[in-house]
Amino acid sequence: MERMKATTLIAAVSMLASLCSAAVPAHFSDRAKELLADEVAVVPTEHPLNVVYFLGNDNKPVADYERRLSELMLYVQQYYAREMTRNGFPGRTFGLERLENGNVKLHVVRGKRSHRDYAYGHGHGPCLEELREYAEANPGAFKSDHILVIMPTFYDEQNTDRNPGGVPFYGLGRFCFALDYAHFDLRHIGQNTHEGRLLTKWLGGLAHELGHGLNLPHNEGPVSEKAAMGTPLMGAGNYTFGMTPTYLTLNSARLLDRCQVFAPAGDKTPFYAECPAPKVVMSSLKWEGDALKLRVVCQNCTYVNALVQDPPYAVNQDYDALAFCAVMESENAGLKTFTLTIPLAELASRANTGKAAQAVDLLLVQPNGNRYRWRTEFDWSQLKSGDSIPLTDPRHMWKGY
Ligand code: ZN
Repeated sequence: MERMKATTLIAAVSMLASLCSAAVPAHFSDRAKELLADEVAVVPTEHPLNVVYFLGNDNKPVADYERRLSELMLYVQQYYAREMTRNGFPGRTFGLERLENGNVKLHVVRGKRSHRDYAYGHGHGPCLEELREYAEANPGAFKSDHILVIMPTFYDEQNTDRNPGGVPFYGLGRFCFALDYAHFDLRHIGQNTHEGRLLTKWLGGLAHELGHGLNLPHNEGPVSEKAAMGTPLMGAGNYTFGMTPTYLTLNSARLLDRCQVFAPAGDKTPFYAECPAPKVVMSSLKWEGDALKLRVVCQNCTYVNALVQDPPYAVNQDYDALAFCAVMESENAGLKTFTLTIPLAELASRANTGKAAQAVDLLLVQPNGNRYRWRTEFDWSQLKSGDSIPLTDPRHMWKGY
């Protein structure tokens, strides 16, 4: 009798366990099961991120890549879902195509040339060309415009599983590149070991480059936000991911809200299609007391984000661009009024270095994910509190990042 009860109880408990962990496949590592168990319920999408495992004609996948990369990609998907939820977009994250066994679908594409021909120094041109051929030969295989390409590390004098590299590693438009190596495994996350630190670098790197491939520019957090939240993923977060608090700014979250692979299933938005540019009908920027005050009235625009940056303003010199978000105050016949207050105390470099030159970039985000950047430069030394700062003619805004 006692034995029967125990058996029934065990059966009931194991059934319950299988229900609760239904989303985490049985063949995943114990550590992955543990880390993915508290998952955020993800909003279903229908245009998932395409994940490509790209090989030359003469190299092979790193051992156990399907399980390892599936665990890692689901972990990054959950990270984005948690951060989007915190930023007010519950459960939103990039979609991933899943196989019947629970693994993430990886498009294994074998290039026509030696893996050496796809080295970092050779650029991404040949790889992208062959991905285009793959897409043509397999119509419908790619389910969105966004592609993450993962290549195995080189094995040579400079590159090994203990020090991987050799292949492209960056984001560019809707493409991004990351790498694979033997210890690229979720079991090492957060550990203060060589493999743990390596995982922060390369998985944090993947999450950061993926951000670029999902429309995100670099950004840094304002002073008080950083003190509370840690390091923005799109700042230096690729060096802290998995080790110390690493967050997505609201600025980034708004861009992801208007990204194709984050769109909930059934959303018919024609992402990135040509459409009328944002039209600014009124704008002002003032230095009032201890803050900059911005007001913009515009059409054809969902969000107005701001990035406040020190020179130089070139790409990869913009990790210091402080992220702010204008608030929509009102909407009237398609005209939206956005306002933003930037306390000077939040501008770290102004407080720390007293640099005079400054740029305020406004990023106007459209409903279909198109983005326009509108830059105004000024010199603090030429201003006094109470002054208006003339904004650049809005016709000089440009499309892109
Ligand atoms: Zn970057």
